[in-house]
Amino acid sequence: MPVPEPPFEGILLGAARREGSGGERRTIANPATGEPIASVAEATAEDGDRAVRLAEETFRRDWRRRTPRERAAALHRIAASIREKADALALLECRNVGKPLAAARGEILLGADCFEFYAGAVLGFGGRTVPVSKRGTCLTLREPLGVCAAILPWNFPFAIATWKAAPALAMGNAVVLKPAEDTPLSALALGDLALEAGLPPGTLQVLPGAGETLGAALVAHPLVSKVSFTGSTEVGREVMRRAADGLKRVSLELGGKSACLIFEDADLDRCLPSALWSAFDNAGQDCCSRSRFLVQRSIHDRVLADLEARTRAIRVGDPLDPSTEMGPLITPAHRKRVRSYVEVGEREGARRLCGGESPTDPARARGSYLTPCLFAGARADMRIAREEIFGPVLVAIPFGDEEEAVALANEGAYGLSGSIWTRDLGRALRVARGIETGVLSVNSSASVHLEAPFGGRKASGLGRELGLEALATFSEEKSVFLSEE
Ligand code: NAD
Repeated sequence: MPVPEPPFEGILLGAARREGSGGERRTIANPATGEPIASVAEATAEDGDRAVRLAEETFRRDWRRRTPRERAAALHRIAASIREKADALALLECRNVGKPLAAARGEILLGADCFEFYAGAVLGFGGRTVPVSKRGTCLTLREPLGVCAAILPWNFPFAIATWKAAPALAMGNAVVLKPAEDTPLSALALGDLALEAGLPPGTLQVLPGAGETLGAALVAHPLVSKVSFTGSTEVGREVMRRAADGLKRVSLELGGKSACLIFEDADLDRCLPSALWSAFDNAGQDCCSRSRFLVQRSIHDRVLADLEARTRAIRVGDPLDPSTEMGPLITPAHRKRVRSYVEVGEREGARRLCGGESPTDPARARGSYLTPCLFAGARADMRIAREEIFGPVLVAIPFGDEEEAVALANEGAYGLSGSIWTRDLGRALRVARGIETGVLSVNSSASVHLEAPFGGRKASGLGRELGLEALATFSEEKSVFLSEE
């Protein structure tokens, strides 16, 4: 019997879904089964140019002229539509990315929350009056930038699309979204929803396509005012270099190797179940993953024994099964890369306590599964303790005192997130001040709050997303002086 063609998904350019100008298509596979789920048109650099020109025209003629309340109403309609279609969107994300269905649903609803947050926030986000030394009044205006290119990673495709699109649109910009090659489906669905919700065609366009061609062309396009990029540090550097010629605004949300610090006075009953998932959530494919556990020596062995038991008990399997806790990795190629780090860790002399294997049972053999892996006896100079693995590999390192814990946490190139577990408030504050990251949580594994700024330091990035900061970074502040003379 012939294998049926997977459904076609066109790029969203203007008001219509269509083929890319090069006629190329990419087959998207379900990471849990390897089965093709969609045949997606690839946008070319030429399509990128058309989309940007249309976005610029829509921006000037229409969207920037709408009042904040009109834009907010459109954002509310998008949020309502996301909520209404949450089940279908969650299923789409689950099948495309391999995340457990409940987690996918949570991320879709976070996207609706994000549109609602910015619909409200923009109504209170204005300029200021500034006391100046000339006779008169100086006031500032918050103005949109124009066309913003948003380049997305594959690990949280829908949520991160909304973190960029919602504040940019709220401020009156037009947005061209470029999803990651392997995960374009939920961003395309978001584009459809936005059109249905009455956004003028061209205000939010979605172009799946290759990073090196389409992505690079969007970054360099003279009509693109801002590039909001989430992805690897390596590509982030390239984006910044290319954007420099046009002096574009750039925000970069990049990789991480965050630490979870567990002190001897921590409430372990609260800490361990939560901390475990700060490492393994989304199968460790999370920029904020606490993939390094720094554990005080006096409790080290007890904590590791508990973590090993919990890691072994994680249910890895079909993302559609409600009892599943961890799905597959995004692609077989990515699993191979993560698996190579398990071998690196063993060669470096760390002790693999469990996991790091590809299940061979028939139910999982066709998916890109890898069992969660725990390493003990690691040192800070090992590659597994320094490099971003971006998979379910957790590395534990012991420490003696507070000073050593902070020094270890600051080892390495990255500075994104982290957790501190202690009952001592003074210590929590001292350690929080000492750690060079953009985000931290105390006695919690949270990283993201829509209302708070989010972003990294060092090799983890530049600029902040979310919070009111996102409205600031998607706008320019213009000073206007009114003379009283
Ligand atoms: P990636 O850097 O390979 O790709 C990210 C995006 O950039 C994709 O859409 C890709 O097509 C595009 N791209 C590739 N080359 C390009 C170029 N030359 N010009 C413009 N665009 C280009 O990253 P990935 O593998 O999709 O995602 C994983 C990485 O993302 C990890 O390092 C992870 O830590 C990071 N990430 C960071 C955050 C954060 O908020 N800090 C969030 C999620 C993921």
